[in-house]
Amino acid sequence: MDDKFSQAITEPHEGIFRIAVPVPLPLKYVYGYVIETPQGYLVVDLGMDTPEARAVWEHVSRTLGLRPGRVWAIAITHFHPDHVGLSGFAQALWDCPVLMLEEEVQTVYQIFDGPPLPMGEFFSRNGLPPADAELLERERAFTQAVVRLPQSGPIQGLQKGTRLGPLELLEQKGHTDHQLLLYWPERKLLFTGDQVLNRITPNISFWPDSDPDPLASYLDSLHTLQSLPITMGLPAHESLIANVSRRIDELAAHHQERADQVLESLSEPKTAYEVARGLFHRTLTPSQWRFALSESLAHLEYLRLRGLVAHTVSEQFTLYQRADR
Ligand SMILES: [Zn+2]
Repeated sequence: MDDKFSQAITEPHEGIFRIAVPVPLPLKYVYGYVIETPQGYLVVDLGMDTPEARAVWEHVSRTLGLRPGRVWAIAITHFHPDHVGLSGFAQALWDCPVLMLEEEVQTVYQIFDGPPLPMGEFFSRNGLPPADAELLERERAFTQAVVRLPQSGPIQGLQKGTRLGPLELLEQKGHTDHQLLLYWPERKLLFTGDQVLNRITPNISFWPDSDPDPLASYLDSLHTLQSLPITMGLPAHESLIANVSRRIDELAAHHQERADQVLESLSEPKTAYEVARGLFHRTLTPSQWRFALSESLAHLEYLRLRGLVAHTVSEQFTLYQRADR
């Protein structure tokens, strides 16, 4: 009867269970972790609130004997729906606290519990066609539908630099403003969240009212992580990372190359959307264009803050060009 779940649980390290949770996204799965610690089980990341994802966690609970009293906490790496979406369900299932870094908690409640952020002006100013911007509005409804926040008690804030059981709490910026990575120094293991992934490059996006220089924050984070002894990276998407150090070098090189391409492409003034069109050649959905646009903006702002690019702000558009020097 549980055949459909036969691939759901693996144990890449003794006492660390990796859970493949299906998500209705091109990435297909988010990987949660169930970690045996002296206090009991700690769960890291969950998935979106869909019937398929609930069924996987129910199977995992039966198989590993997870129940109230045996799971002492759920830690969520960051506010994105594919990580936090199931937190209401899981809190009720195991009757335990849900934890994130303190400032990331604020973001969760702003995004999923507050009034919608007015993003239309931001998108149109940066050149996104009005039809695409409208589709994005509809996507909001989907996102809201797969996120159920905890009902019996709010998500609790963690302090960076402290510990959860044997794990050190690292705050690593760039993918979101306050992503939590868990590092187990005795075993040299890093739970990388979305910060380091094995094949794709994590999205680094510029948004209004967020980190003004997310690419610099991300490169700083890679530099920090490079200094840790790590024998394996356990990411929230895609396969395990055998050589984290090499992957970090590749990610840093990718962004350097991308920044060069962006600068190169500014032979004339362009909106961020026009820059993105020149960089991303595949057919993208409106939501993927949004990420392409905000990632191009992250690069443009990185270059602008270093004096290599200038921008002019007219009533309608923000135009970027190479700085005269
Ligand atoms: Zn994410």
